[in-house]
Amino acid sequence: MIGPAPDVGTEGSVLAVFGHPDDAEISAGGTLARWANEGRDVHLLVLTNGDRGSNDPNRDRTELAATRVVETEAAAAYLGMRSTRVLSIHDGELENTPEVRTEIVRSIRTIKPGIVLSCDPTAWFFGNDYYNHADHRTAGACALDAVFPAAGNPLFFQELLAEGLEPHSVHAVWLGWTLQPNHFQDVSGFLDAKLESLARHASQVEGDMLGFFKEWLPEEAAKLGKRIGVEHAEAFRVLNLE
Ligand SMILES: [Zn+2]
Repeated sequence: MIGPAPDVGTEGSVLAVFGHPDDAEISAGGTLARWANEGRDVHLLVLTNGDRGSNDPNRDRTELAATRVVETEAAAAYLGMRSTRVLSIHDGELENTPEVRTEIVRSIRTIKPGIVLSCDPTAWFFGNDYYNHADHRTAGACALDAVFPAAGNPLFFQELLAEGLEPHSVHAVWLGWTLQPNHFQDVSGFLDAKLESLARHASQVEGDMLGFFKEWLPEEAAKLGKRIGVEHAEAFRVLNLE
């Protein structure tokens, strides 16, 4: 645990920003499902098109990207999200550029979320058998840099002002896939929604993969749930920005 317990807030719209089409479901699907179920407006911005999400050397990447947009929309609909947007940046090539930050700020200023939910850019090593994908770390860094200072400052991305997109200050950032959680979100009752939405990403859960996730994700959620005495939880580093 780091710092005092955060004010986790229970109102306002939410923008989830992730690197790949299925990241939101894996990292925070239970939380997003719960919020949508509570009537909050939940939106998704995916920064790459996922066109390297296959080990088949003959897979048509353009077709895969198109497939993944359809899967993203189906998964988001299952979770009860209000909108999805998938940028056309190639999988594995995400960089923290002004162009990427402009698109995140565009979504923030359009949706005006109270919370931006992304992943922790400082998380590199998960145990001794996995380290974090560069697109995940970069997505988190882009999201943080877009939230502050860019989204709330009129001198950043002034072309957006001309489009009528006024500055907007986000109140809180939730970072999943973190090594420094300060909040465990109760997602009891929403794990099935998480797994069912993940199953909508059919191209990514072929063969044994769905079984792997259906075993691993509930185990992980149960382990995190024990931290706060509930059946299932997801872990976040929550930052309150005032
Ligand atoms: Zn990913």
